[in-house]
Amino acid sequence: MQGKILIVDPIATNRIVLKTKLASAFYDVRQATSVAEALFHASRNTPDLVISAFTLSDADATALLDGLAALPKTIRIPVIAFGDSEDAALRQLFLSHGAQDVLVKPVEDTLLLSRVRSMIRLYHSTERWQMRAEASRAFGLAEAPSPFQMPGHIQLVGSDKALNHIWATQLRRAQPDHVSVCGTGDAMTCLRAHVIPDVFVLVLTQDRDAVKDQMDLISSIRANAGTRHCGIITIQTIPNAEVAANALDLGADDLMQQGFNLRELQLRLSALLTRKRQVDRIRASVDLGLREAIFDPLTGLYNRRYALAELTRQTHPANRENLPFAVMMADMDHFKSVNDRFGHAAGDAVLVETAHRLRAQLRPSDTAARLGGEEFLLLLPATSEKNATALARRLCRSFEQTPFLVPGSQTPVTVTISIGICMVTGADLHKPDAAARLIDQADKALYAAKSRGRNCVLLSRPAA
Ligand code: GH3
Ligand code: MG
Ligand code: MG
Repeated sequence: MQGKILIVDPIATNRIVLKTKLASAFYDVRQATSVAEALFHASRNTPDLVISAFTLSDADATALLDGLAALPKTIRIPVIAFGDSEDAALRQLFLSHGAQDVLVKPVEDTLLLSRVRSMIRLYHSTERWQMRAEASRAFGLAEAPSPFQMPGHIQLVGSDKALNHIWATQLRRAQPDHVSVCGTGDAMTCLRAHVIPDVFVLVLTQDRDAVKDQMDLISSIRANAGTRHCGIITIQTIPNAEVAANALDLGADDLMQQGFNLRELQLRLSALLTRKRQVDRIRASVDLGLREAIFDPLTGLYNRRYALAELTRQTHPANRENLPFAVMMADMDHFKSVNDRFGHAAGDAVLVETAHRLRAQLRPSDTAARLGGEEFLLLLPATSEKNATALARRLCRSFEQTPFLVPGSQTPVTVTISIGICMVTGADLHKPDAAARLIDQADKALYAAKSRGRNCVLLSRPAA
């Protein structure tokens, strides 16, 4: 099933015609005739899209829009108002009450289905981020503070310079947002300049070559990591259902088929900007939460939680091609005395520099983590015993031979490190708690290195 759609229309034949079209495209279609019935249904079954006639049996579509907006469960469900009269004021009324679009019959089937697809796609992508935000909150991960609402940045893109100028001037007068203008070929230069707009407004004229360039631009905006999350509104100077359907399928979020209408564009921009800000905020909060969940804030290395999960993953029997595999536990020698002699800030500086030194000696496929305090774990897939030992000795020498510059000391301070290595063989991987056993073995080797006088490397093989 592609998605659940609720049709709300008091006239049975209208419902049947629409239902037939949508059902043939594999949508699960439900029906209602009144605002009350539609709200009852929507709050229980949460459709992915509501298509409502302008007038319903008990009120008009604005009452339905207001009712849906009043409940957290239904507030984000997109609504298309679908009716017979082409009236700019009515269109703006529905948009201002939160309708995502207003379609006037007859609408070509391909365009209708493209519109439905694009709305459900946008709705699901917003819902996915919403769900991640809720999961992050449930796990107690960080939530980004709600930022001060900055004006948006709108990039108007069209091939007709004079038209661009007129529309941009009107938009600038009406909107607090920054409006910039460019031709189709220049639109992606924003990536080089690192000034990514919030919304692209693409003007589609009748010029076939220019339209093709704009279609390519929609694909590029969606394909590029820097612009993927930008909003896209297309405005057709002359309605063309085929081009409109194509633009929506390529990834445009919204479409104005009736040419430029300032008030209508403002309403659509406002809806798109609001949703984008909301999703940007959620994305930032999820990213921040993830960063805090896997990285050590002082050194920027992975933290204990991530390192243990990674060791479990890498030593899973399915990843045998990584054998032989070295697990190293490294611990600074007499680190407490660094704090005691030069202060905690000096100790922190040594930890940060230690992380740099460890990372500098490793390959991109290796993992370095701070397990806690002055203790580090290194995971080295596809590394022989000989190479692992040579690397560990090189690390020890780099600490011994290059003292640390620290706050609180005029002269650089020498701090050494001890390393225990555990070589992993295939037999280890089948035992329960394989990862914990490997760490335990590396820890025993480290302890032995400390007992032997520190600043040295010792190796252990797990018992068969
Ligand atoms: P050994 O050679 O036996 O490992 O001796 P040590 O002094 O390094 O080991 P011990 O476990 O006795 O002390 C570790 C010290 O590391 C104690 C603690 O103050 C310090 N430490 C732990 N975490 C941090 C940190 O985040 N910053 C700073 N500056 N010091 C830390
Ligand atoms: Mg120590
Ligand atoms: Mg320690």
